[in-house]
Amino acid sequence: STITYVQAAGSRGGGMRRVPVGLRKPPLRIVVTGGAGFVGSHLVDKLIARGDSVIVIDNFFTGRKENLVHLFGNPRFELIRHDVIEPILLEVDQIYHLACPASPVHYKHNPIKTIKTNVMGTLNMLGLAKRIGARFLLTSTSEVYGDPLEHPQKETYWGHVNPIGVRSCYDEGKRTAETLAMDYHRGADVEVRIARIFNTYGPRMCIDDGRVVSNFVAQALRRQPMTVYGDGKQTRSFQYVSDLVDGLVTLMESEHIGPFNLGNPGEFTMLELAEVVKEIVDPTATIEFKPNTADDPHMRKPDITKAKESLNWEPKVPLREGLPLMVKDFRTRILDEHK
Ligand code: NAD
Ligand code: UDP
Ligand code: UDP
Repeated sequence: STITYVQAAGSRGGGMRRVPVGLRKPPLRIVVTGGAGFVGSHLVDKLIARGDSVIVIDNFFTGRKENLVHLFGNPRFELIRHDVIEPILLEVDQIYHLACPASPVHYKHNPIKTIKTNVMGTLNMLGLAKRIGARFLLTSTSEVYGDPLEHPQKETYWGHVNPIGVRSCYDEGKRTAETLAMDYHRGADVEVRIARIFNTYGPRMCIDDGRVVSNFVAQALRRQPMTVYGDGKQTRSFQYVSDLVDGLVTLMESEHIGPFNLGNPGEFTMLELAEVVKEIVDPTATIEFKPNTADDPHMRKPDITKAKESLNWEPKVPLREGLPLMVKDFRTRILDEHK
């Protein structure tokens, strides 16, 4: 068989690197909204490392320039301070739409802003995708299942969501975002991809975002009691960020629309999570019970059969391997607070 060779994208020194045609895609221009945030910044790192050009759109509500500062000066990287609620004109091949606060403390801080971000922000990014013919990926959430009556949750489950509660700006907002994506797909031929992300943790999370993993790790490092809400018997399934980022890129490149659950099926009660943090951070750590928040889902665990079969994706990093990587990052940042 004949193999043709091309100049490898991004290769230095002018020499021909021997890359068979068809095995390497040309570099893409990609927008990542919310790219200064926790998940977004890891995704940007992966796309830049792959040779693509990335434009981050972020209003810095919960994101930080520190998450991207290592890319400043890279000619393939651009950072725009912009709120996705406002229209924007750009020319790219793909749009990863992540912009939206993810921690319950953050998204309840200004619920009207949260639902505007989910509805108007997603509408604008779909309008952009339609105008330029870009492929669009929505980062939806396991919260679309609400307080689920089916366990574990499959993509076919329609959910059990309170439309008028304190979490609705986020979970109903994401449900509307999914609706918008499907309507732009059916009505305007936009190529869309939908990921339903389950609880994800890792380096670069906001230390004080109020999410359970960041709270427990920061509390244990600061020698404060870990705050368990309610009886601590509610469950969540925790995914390490590199597994999620692999899943998002695989989904974007695939021929499948979704929705796909992206999560780690390993399920823990909050009391079990506290035990794992104790084991890893400080064997003398203690816990303190606090009242739970309204509408807190009792259990959550992804059924990832669909992603395994169609995308050949599954998470690789168990909690006891991922948590130490996050603890290392939190330890450095918490020490820096005292300098
Ligand atoms: P994050 O808060 O760290 O990042 C969100 C980013 O979006 C931040 O940089 C923030 O400044 C930016 N942003 C918010 N509103 C914006 C607006 N109106 N215009 C422009 N930028 C805006 O959260 P994350 O954990 O990285 O989550 C990223 C995405 O993944 C979110 O859409 C979230 O709903 C989804 N998700 C995350 C999880 C998780 O466990 N981390 C679970 C389910 C879904
Ligand atoms: N939009 C945008 N950038 C573009 C194209 C559209 O921000 O390049 C916004 C546009 O302002 C509108 C939304 O996306 O608010 C939906 O656009 P669409 O063309 O689907 O709807 P219309 O403008 O016809 O209402
Ligand atoms: N939680 C807790 N202690 C904390 C923060 C949260 O016990 O300090 C519980 C919370 O009640 C929920 C679970 O941990 O049952 C996950 O909460 P988180 O805010 O991390 O994410 P959610 O899955 O609710 O979006």
